[in-house]
Amino acid sequence: MSTASPAGTPARTPAPGQLTFVAPRRAKPARHLADLTMAERRAAVAELGEKPFRADQLSRQYFDKLNGDPQSMTDLPAAAREKLGAALFPALLTPVRELATDGGTTRKTLWRLFDGALVESVLMRYTDRTTMCVSSQAGCGMNCPFCATGQAGLTRNMSTAEIVEQVVAGARALAKGEVPGGPGRVSNVVFMGMGEPLANYKAVIGAVRRLVEPSPSGLGISARGVTVSTVGLVPAIGKLAAEGLPVTLALSLHAPDDELRDTLVPINTRWKVAEVLDAAWDYAAKTKRRVSIEYALIKDINDQEWRADLLGKLVRNKLVHVNLIPLNPTPGSKWTASRPEDERAFVRRLEHHGVPVTVRDTRGREIDGACGQLAAAE
Ligand code: SF4
Repeated sequence: MSTASPAGTPARTPAPGQLTFVAPRRAKPARHLADLTMAERRAAVAELGEKPFRADQLSRQYFDKLNGDPQSMTDLPAAAREKLGAALFPALLTPVRELATDGGTTRKTLWRLFDGALVESVLMRYTDRTTMCVSSQAGCGMNCPFCATGQAGLTRNMSTAEIVEQVVAGARALAKGEVPGGPGRVSNVVFMGMGEPLANYKAVIGAVRRLVEPSPSGLGISARGVTVSTVGLVPAIGKLAAEGLPVTLALSLHAPDDELRDTLVPINTRWKVAEVLDAAWDYAAKTKRRVSIEYALIKDINDQEWRADLLGKLVRNKLVHVNLIPLNPTPGSKWTASRPEDERAFVRRLEHHGVPVTVRDTRGREIDGACGQLAAAE
């Protein structure tokens, strides 16, 4: 059903409400170890005239020791370090700004990519887990009107390694004890930063594999700790279900009726609420994973009790959890968070239908927590 043009087609300036699906043609980020499977890494080092086992050494250094600097990989001969470093460890992310809150346990980083594109990641440490929220695209072509990232449009897809590097950077900070709470590990990764993950499918799946594969292939994070969000690209949801990866699917629904969803989430003009929910239930059936329905509560837009009732009827008795998100308003925007009494009433209506529901905590608010706000400010 997709009417997207072939990958690499230059993006045109979208008319209002029109979707841009395809990243413009640009220079690609350099190849990095984290872009490659184990077999590809062995082939890459062999091409450089090194023994294939060097790929295992490099992989252990990067994924176990979180070391991306070949010069300090003392298990490699000095002569090989420079060659392998230049070929497999290009600098992909440069920190531009870092903001911390919650006593340093929430840290948001604005990164500059090799071509100047800006993306954001957020580390959130809780008592029982540490979550990295990562970007999968520089900008986003989905055009959701309440979102800072959506307003800027799509710059380009990120590579697998650019995505993985955000997690490794967080893991490094934790391992070094730079985050209050003592040395720790990344336990969860959510693809909820900038971009629509399923519009950059291949790179995102590559990144998910690198995250969940055990050492030396990857970081060894439990697939159950990984959440991939989408506004509802139905064919890609089907593809994801067939990957055999028990990651959580988070569907950004934001409205239970097509009339409103067509405006809040413009991709809905292509795949309607009923179709998107069917794809979500298929995903739950295939993976046995509870689908998370994300619903940003926006004052007087989508927070009426009748919409809570409609949502409750659509999702009750399914393998589902509803996550209500008080909207983090972007500066100058007419969209803002619901009144507390409307939020409470919305929760009550969903509970009345027996639907498991939580209201997301609003970590990072004071550091421009909503995706795209730091990049927009820069
Ligand atoms: S809400 Fe998500 S999908 Fe929509 S424009 Fe923003 S980043 Fe893209």
